[in-house]
Amino acid sequence: MKAMVLNKICNLGENKEPLELVNLPKPVPGEREILVRVSVCGVCHTELDEIEGRTPPPRFPVVLGHQVVGRVEKCGSKAGKFKIGDRVGIAWIYSACGNCKFCLEGNENLCEYFKATGRDANGGYAEYLTVLEDFAFIIPDIFTDSEAAPLLCAGAIGYRSLRLTDIEDGQNLGLTGFGASGHLVIKMARHRYPNSKVFVFARSEQERKFAKELGAVWAGDTEDESPEKLDCVIDTTPVWKPIVEALKNLKSGGRLVINAIRKEEIDKEYLLKLDYPTHLWREKEIKSVANVARRDVGEFLKLAAEIAIKPEVQEFSLEEANKALLELKERKIRGAKVLRL
Ligand SMILES: [Zn+2]
Ligand SMILES: [Zn+2]
Repeated sequence: MKAMVLNKICNLGENKEPLELVNLPKPVPGEREILVRVSVCGVCHTELDEIEGRTPPPRFPVVLGHQVVGRVEKCGSKAGKFKIGDRVGIAWIYSACGNCKFCLEGNENLCEYFKATGRDANGGYAEYLTVLEDFAFIIPDIFTDSEAAPLLCAGAIGYRSLRLTDIEDGQNLGLTGFGASGHLVIKMARHRYPNSKVFVFARSEQERKFAKELGAVWAGDTEDESPEKLDCVIDTTPVWKPIVEALKNLKSGGRLVINAIRKEEIDKEYLLKLDYPTHLWREKEIKSVANVARRDVGEFLKLAAEIAIKPEVQEFSLEEANKALLELKERKIRGAKVLRL
């Protein structure tokens, strides 16, 4: 089968073609696995982190890609969940031990033996992949393959961050940062908590305008004070300032959920502005989001179908994977990028 593989960590600034097109043997599904013929694989920022070594794969060569949509072509001898031809999705969560405290409580994203698709196991930048059937999800009919792929990452993580706020309908929600993830979260929040008011903090006037179009009752700059105190805030930015500024807007006992894999170092000194009585006292909480558990992917796909969330996509061929990654690195973004096989 055709696959685009990463052979070693490299700097995309120096090596513009980090992935190599190779022919690999078609994988054979284990007992509880399914063989999936890939039709589309989303291109994610995390692939840049893998290529450049910020979240390095343990082995090379490796097939990247963790927003995979395809059809079941073969089932292992003890795999009975899907029929041949079923359309399934595979997300970042590839497998977990199944026995530890975290797995048993449904937080297998925190499992010590968590494996990531396209990093710890071969992913979707290839014609086929195998996965445990319990870690594949039926894709709702409403989505095309290309529309479904980007939902499997940002959408599912956005859903988890909303879930971790513990918000109840009618409570005030803040969003600081209003990029792709923020757009998804506001749609989910408006649908699931129709009586909650959403307050958005964003740097650009354009983003603030868009936030209001999507149903925010108020939109201000990152350091602005919201007109009402907030029960929870979700941060989707890569920096520190929004964290400090969001904390001051929380009610007593309010919660800040940070939806970021890593924070940049550039404005770290902003943390020195942290004033205990203003920002932390009165039992305010801070919680980070560490990717997704299976529950998040399954529940989010259902919710996305209900709301009819349809991402804008830009398609590339498998062979154009390097081009798609480079454009992502250079922030040439016209909708979510996907590889169509
Ligand atoms: Zn991703
Ligand atoms: Zn576990």
